[in-house]
Amino acid sequence: GYHRVVNENRKLYNMVQDLRGNIRVYCRVRPSFRAETKDVIEFIGEDGSLVILDPLKPRKEGRKVFQFNHVFGPTATQDDVFKETQPLIRSVMDGYNVCIFAYGQTGSGKTHTMIRSCASENGLNLPDATMHSVKSTADVLQLMKLGELNRAVSSTAINNRSSRSHSVLTIHVHGKDTSGSILRSCLHLVDLAGSERVDKSEVTGDRLKEAQYINKSLSCLGDVITALAQKNSHIPYRNSKLTLLLQDSLGGRAKTLMFAHVSPEVDFFGETVSTLKFAQRVSTVELGAARVNKESNEVMQLKEQIESLKKALANKE
Ligand code: ADP
Ligand code: MG
Repeated sequence: GYHRVVNENRKLYNMVQDLRGNIRVYCRVRPSFRAETKDVIEFIGEDGSLVILDPLKPRKEGRKVFQFNHVFGPTATQDDVFKETQPLIRSVMDGYNVCIFAYGQTGSGKTHTMIRSCASENGLNLPDATMHSVKSTADVLQLMKLGELNRAVSSTAINNRSSRSHSVLTIHVHGKDTSGSILRSCLHLVDLAGSERVDKSEVTGDRLKEAQYINKSLSCLGDVITALAQKNSHIPYRNSKLTLLLQDSLGGRAKTLMFAHVSPEVDFFGETVSTLKFAQRVSTVELGAARVNKESNEVMQLKEQIESLKKALANKE
């Protein structure tokens, strides 16, 4: 009985979410790598609640409660994650822009989620970005592997490069719906750089510059989200390439899903709290209803008419 009520609640919740076009936040806790110590996760609720315990404080004061749209615990499988994400990915086919990004410290499971369970233009200068046409899931997975390889290759030159770079896979969808209207949409899969604070004593020179750059782009993302949450008239998309790239998918017309990744070990308590706080901030953002990028037949016909008139005019001159 309880589970049915919880499930019904979630269904209703999702319907409300759809209406509001809200940003969704899922939290994922990876399994512990250290079986010998007790981890900081006290409770994971089916309703998306998560309770963590500060190991250094008395039980009452050390208890922190967070609420998300869903929490995947250490035993959740890739299939579980995919099932919960699939409707959102499907809506790309209905003409919505969708952005799924993974946030969290290095080693918390971002790549694990993005690679296995989620299967430029506009004047932005991304010299190394490439575009490929794909025919199958296998093609996409191949490209994702290539991207991950490119991140890893640089790690010989700069230690741990893959944890300090963002990886963005964008899938552009062009199609026609049954009424003949043209649909254009895109799906961004963003595997963000590790969110951990950089210890300045450990890095110098170019590495420090790189780390600061990454921290800056993550804080720009936070600023954009805060501005959206406060419904500011100015949203500072232009402050970083990352937010500029994701602009169409972070605004009111898109559907956004954030995976907040946390490690359960006591050692990472500080980073875990800061990730969960960031995620909580993101989940309070309210956007307008998501909109389909659709041009009706009428608009298309008018455009064609304009084009042929333009041609006729040019021929006359
Ligand atoms: P990140 O991309 O955040 O740095 P990774 O995705 O590389 O972290 O994960 C770190 C390690 O933990 C990898 O070896 C990965 O396979 C493992 N891992 C992460 N999440 C899970 C999970 N949910 N279940 C099992 N192993 C996981
Ligand atoms: Mg990674």
